[in-house]
Amino acid sequence: MGRVIAVANQKGGVAKTTTVASLGAAFVLRGLRVLLVDLDPQSSLTFSLGVDPDVVDHSISDVIRGEVLLSAARLRTSEGMDLVPSTIDLLAAEAMLLPAPQREFVVRRGLEEVLGAYDVVLLDCSPSLGLLTLNALAAADEVLVPLQCEMLSHRGVGQLLDTVADVHRLLNPRLRVRGLLPTMYDKRSVHARAVLADVKRRYRVPVLNPIPRSVKFAEAPSMGTTIVATSPSSSGARAYFRIADGLLRAWRFGGRKVAPARPSRG
Ligand code: ADP
Ligand code: MG
Repeated sequence: MGRVIAVANQKGGVAKTTTVASLGAAFVLRGLRVLLVDLDPQSSLTFSLGVDPDVVDHSISDVIRGEVLLSAARLRTSEGMDLVPSTIDLLAAEAMLLPAPQREFVVRRGLEEVLGAYDVVLLDCSPSLGLLTLNALAAADEVLVPLQCEMLSHRGVGQLLDTVADVHRLLNPRLRVRGLLPTMYDKRSVHARAVLADVKRRYRVPVLNPIPRSVKFAEAPSMGTTIVATSPSSSGARAYFRIADGLLRAWRFGGRKVAPARPSRG
């Protein structure tokens, strides 16, 4: 059964989408079967993997509306990950869910059909704590939280961890916090180092090895590829391989290092 990881942070621009695409590509190169699901109406993941949302036959919105099975909305990307794309319709599909019964479990039910065909499923969340993100958390085994090491930029993390704790208690007892993932990290910056130290002290969850800041990350998506494909030996790609390998090791050993979801006032 595929392990489902939600990549979430209600702040935009913290590298959620970059993390989903790069980790997905790294897992494929490690021989895993990988599914990525774009749960952001802005479709950044879809675009960044070279897929035009305007021309796809089906998207996650159709799955949420119950019009097609998730398997029918899948595409194969050039790097070997499968992708369920999103389109701008997703905003309307989310609004339509509001009065629906069991509205937090729509993504999970959609995924059940295909979980046996994958080793890893990565869910790219939108920058909000709305119903789509709750759906991702309700469907996930674990959540990974990218954050930027800048003052004020991790202020929402405590609120996100509280939401994760609520989802764990009320909707999904399997959910665990895999960890915080510092991104765009500049180790030469005194400020970034101070913020990283503060993050490590403040939240009672694991903090993974930082992903370095690199202009290569800005270039890859415009070519419809990930940094893992375009610059596999760059420091950024190597950092994502390290995270992927760390996750694989943890899963093999039963995930003992994973912190249980719990309230965390940050
Ligand atoms: P989110 O999905 O959280 O909104 P994105 O993954 O879209 O964030 O990243 C926001 C911007 O930051 C993008 O332009 C992306 O290319 C860039 N970026 C991501 N990771 C890095 C990094 N490690 N170094 C430099 N730029 C990065
Ligand atoms: Mg994004």
